Amino acid sequence: MSRAIIAFGANLGDREATIASAIRALADADGVELVRVSPVYESVAIKDTGVDHEAPGYLNGVVAVDTTLEPHALLDLLLRIEADHGRVRTEHWGDRTLDLDLLDVDGLVVDDERLTLPHPRAWQRAFVLAPWLDVDPDASITGRGSVRDLLAAATDEVTRR
Ligand code: ADP
Ligand code: MG
Repeated sequence: MSRAIIAFGANLGDREATIASAIRALADADGVELVRVSPVYESVAIKDTGVDHEAPGYLNGVVAVDTTLEPHALLDLLLRIEADHGRVRTEHWGDRTLDLDLLDVDGLVVDDERLTLPHPRAWQRAFVLAPWLDVDPDASITGRGSVRDLLAAATDEVTRR
């Protein structure tokens, strides 16, 4: 059994409904047990070109799960849930109905063509660090430090909903 931390984000459509449905799908999946769900935060879209105030805002949060799935199987499940909620990949870091990212699995380091763990950008994004701290006040990122310290150093704007 592994403890996995998953980030969710949505900036298109009925964001609350999409997030609620995605968390339900995760909780209902074989080999996955929902442990904790963070409060929801609001953040401004970040594009390849930087912060985009014109784009619809995001709702973000984190869930902790216990799972018997190995990390790639868990990633496949996340991608399937994204697709089931109308996720269409067009531009890189484009607007999306649902983004599910695997932040961490028991501090494991993975780096292949499909999966990078810990998530390579989580350490500098307040919109994932803030809800991660809510579900695990002692969390740390392999090679980066404590989530608490990383959140204090992050510069992007995030507000509790
Ligand atoms: P982003 O989340 O950076 O906006 P996408 O959601 O479009 O990007 O994900 C693109 C690909 O990133 C996925 O198909 C997946 O194979 C890969 N990927 C690598 N590491 C991870 C991870 N830790 N969590 C989620 N996806 C990952
Ligand atoms: Mg993603």
